[in-house]
Amino acid sequence: MRRVFRARTAGIGTKLTVGFGLLVSLTLLVVALAVVAGRDATRDIEVSEAVRAPASLASAQAQDALLRMQLHLRGYLVLSDAEDIEQYHVARQEFEKSLASLHALAAGWDQDDRRRIQALSEGYARWKRLPPQLFELHEDSLRNRPALRLSRVDVQARRVRVLAETEAMIALQKARGADAASRETLAALFTFQSSFDALATNVMAFGASGESSFKLTYSPQLVANAAFWDTLEARRPWLTPQQRDHLDRIAAARVELTQLALQVRAILDSDRAFEDLYLYRTEVVPQARALIGLLQNVTARQQAQLQVDLARAKDSLARSRAQTVAGGLLALALGVAMAFLLRRSVVGPVQRLTSVAGQIAAGDINAQARAEASDEIGMLATSFNTMTARLAETITNLEAAKNAAETANRAKSAFLANMSHELRTPLNAILGYAQILRRSELTPRDAAGVVTVQRSGEHLLLLINDMLDLARIEAGKVELYADSMDLGTLLRIVHDIIRVEAQRKELAFDHEVVGPLPAVVRADEKRLRQVLLNLLNNAVKFTRQGRVSLRVTTLESDDKHARLRFEVEDTGIGIRAEHLERIFRPFEQAADVQRRFGGTGLGLAISRQLVLLMGGDIHVESRVGAGSRFWFELDLPVAEHDVFEKVSQIEGITGYEGRRRKVLVVDDIDANRGPVLEFMGRLGFDMIEADNGDSAIRCVETERPDIVLMDSVMPVMDGMEAIRRLRGMEAFAELPIIVVSANASGADRQACLDAGANAFLPKPIDFERLLTEIARLLGLTWTKRSVAAPSEEPDAAAPLVAPPPQEMEELLRLARFGNMRSIRTHAQHLASLDARYRPLAARLYKLADAFETVAIVQLLKELQEGSQTDGEQSTQHEG
Ligand code: ADP
Repeated sequence: MRRVFRARTAGIGTKLTVGFGLLVSLTLLVVALAVVAGRDATRDIEVSEAVRAPASLASAQAQDALLRMQLHLRGYLVLSDAEDIEQYHVARQEFEKSLASLHALAAGWDQDDRRRIQALSEGYARWKRLPPQLFELHEDSLRNRPALRLSRVDVQARRVRVLAETEAMIALQKARGADAASRETLAALFTFQSSFDALATNVMAFGASGESSFKLTYSPQLVANAAFWDTLEARRPWLTPQQRDHLDRIAAARVELTQLALQVRAILDSDRAFEDLYLYRTEVVPQARALIGLLQNVTARQQAQLQVDLARAKDSLARSRAQTVAGGLLALALGVAMAFLLRRSVVGPVQRLTSVAGQIAAGDINAQARAEASDEIGMLATSFNTMTARLAETITNLEAAKNAAETANRAKSAFLANMSHELRTPLNAILGYAQILRRSELTPRDAAGVVTVQRSGEHLLLLINDMLDLARIEAGKVELYADSMDLGTLLRIVHDIIRVEAQRKELAFDHEVVGPLPAVVRADEKRLRQVLLNLLNNAVKFTRQGRVSLRVTTLESDDKHARLRFEVEDTGIGIRAEHLERIFRPFEQAADVQRRFGGTGLGLAISRQLVLLMGGDIHVESRVGAGSRFWFELDLPVAEHDVFEKVSQIEGITGYEGRRRKVLVVDDIDANRGPVLEFMGRLGFDMIEADNGDSAIRCVETERPDIVLMDSVMPVMDGMEAIRRLRGMEAFAELPIIVVSANASGADRQACLDAGANAFLPKPIDFERLLTEIARLLGLTWTKRSVAAPSEEPDAAAPLVAPPPQEMEELLRLARFGNMRSIRTHAQHLASLDARYRPLAARLYKLADAFETVAIVQLLKELQEGSQTDGEQSTQHEG
């Protein structure tokens, strides 16, 4: 169990799940903490809002109402205004409302706070009973003011009694008669009576008003009354017993009045002169103060609680923030750690895998991915390696297939080349005999048949040559020989050739150079010319009227390179859009033109291959009935002028200085040896020949040639072997040997040089290059003559006149052998025969210069046909 667990390390999926799970949990935790803290804070704030603040408010309102109640009570006591009672009741209602809400709020408070509210209610219940008492007292003035009650009731009673007793005494006295003593008694009675009345009235006024003037008047009145009482008392002996009883009663009332006056004064001096004010002062105010104290206490408590709640809310929020920050930091750290782990366990291996993939893409099929872990990436690496192995296997198979295909292709090319050789030999016989036959006596029908045979044969020859060319190009056998060349000369030659063709079809032909053309460039002149002539020939061939033009445009140029565009335009029949790509394929001809225009259908295929080799591509643009435009662009290196001069100096060579040299030409095919023998022979070389390597060695030993031109592929012994053997012989270690081979690839060239050859020339042989190599190897100096070339500017308008039949046969033969040098020589010979032949001579000279075998053959053939018709006509005339 345990081993299994260990063997399986966690996959990337597990790692990712665990990592992200942790991250998510942490985030959730942080959020939960923040929510809890927030909820605490919210609850505290809610309590503050719902309880503490309203409680403080209610308490404050209750205080205010209580103060107003007091105020209005006092106002009423002082001013007796009913309005104050009303206001008192308003304030009382407000107070009771506030008290009720405090009661309600206090439900959830702690014991102490609830007890305070309880005390408040009880205190108020007591206090509430006071104001009605106050109002009652205030309205009942006798109860409210004790001094008033004493004076109104008690003092008045004494006054009335004394006045009545005194009246009774006066009446009794009057009844006793009016003697002097009696009059005296009466006077004393009257005086006392009025003095007592004034005294009593004064006391009463004092008790009612509390005026302080009483104190000032009372004492003198009391003294005066005492004096009048003494006078009356002194008359006692003259009084009747009845009168004496009256007098005793007056005396008692008088004492009582004096005591009452003192009492009134004492009351007015005390703080209970007004009972309502006394009650207000002693009960209402102190109790209200106690209540306000309680209320203040409640407010303070609630304020304090509010502070506590808010502080706690603040704490909660601060805690929540701290937790969030800490959690966030933790999550961040976790994220970074995960990114690091991911990088290590996923990105790194993937990057290494990518680089391995890059190596494989770059061609290193053996690159191996390292399986670092047994997770998905490890599996990927393993699959990767499996895939690479498969890939390597596939590539090996492909290479085998490719090699097989290449071998097959080479076999095809070799087959084509062989077939061409095989076909050419009988064809030469057919053509030769056709020519011989044409010179014999034939019926016109037979003669026409022979002409058909010859023409068909020649067409076949063209076809074979083109096929061979194409096969060689496709087999990679054709290499370009870039050399210094004069662009101006090339264009002039092309122009001259095409002008004649165009004139024959009454077409205008112009050639235009746009921009500064570099004088000398490095290019394979022959091949470039071949392409241009092919395009221009097509243009002429497929145009019935209008014009054909050649335009060369310099697109870019500096002293190292030039980018040129070659354009061939015509106003011919045009090509249908769907044929535009097809015409570049071998043997493709657009629609039904084949019969009317002739041709092999290989020209464009060859031209495109050549331009591709030169690093460009042929493009075409055409409209049916309006014309076509073919063009290609090339990047050509610009060459030094004098290099070209050196090459062109080979022109006009007639021989060489010094002793005669001997040249051995080795080739198994007569037709290949022929032209070289003839060309070199005319320059004064002794020519000997051999048809294979073995005979060549024997020939070298016996003839001791100065130089050997050696074919590479021959029966019996090939050229390579022969060279190796010759180099093995001391005498011939230094013998100059030039290999002339149809196998002209770089590898072939190198193989020849490795075998010991001094130089290599491709077939078909370029005599200029041959001469250059020979001069180099033998150290020859050429002798030259001023070339009496046919006039440089032949009269283009002059008609081409066919030469005598023998000359014609010879020219055709030379042309078929591709012997350009001889054609040039022959052209000069022709020009010297008759001025009429000069235009033809000039034309041939140029064509030979351009190595235009096909064009020469065609030209001669057409002339021959023309002259034959003429000849037939003249023969008939003569006959
Ligand atoms: P050929 O001319 O021998 O038939 P090419 O390969 O040169 O072979 O041309 C292939 C075909 O392309 C021609 O048969 C012709 O139909 C078409 N073509 C080539 N050039 C032109 C042109 N300038 N105008 C019209 N058609 C052309």
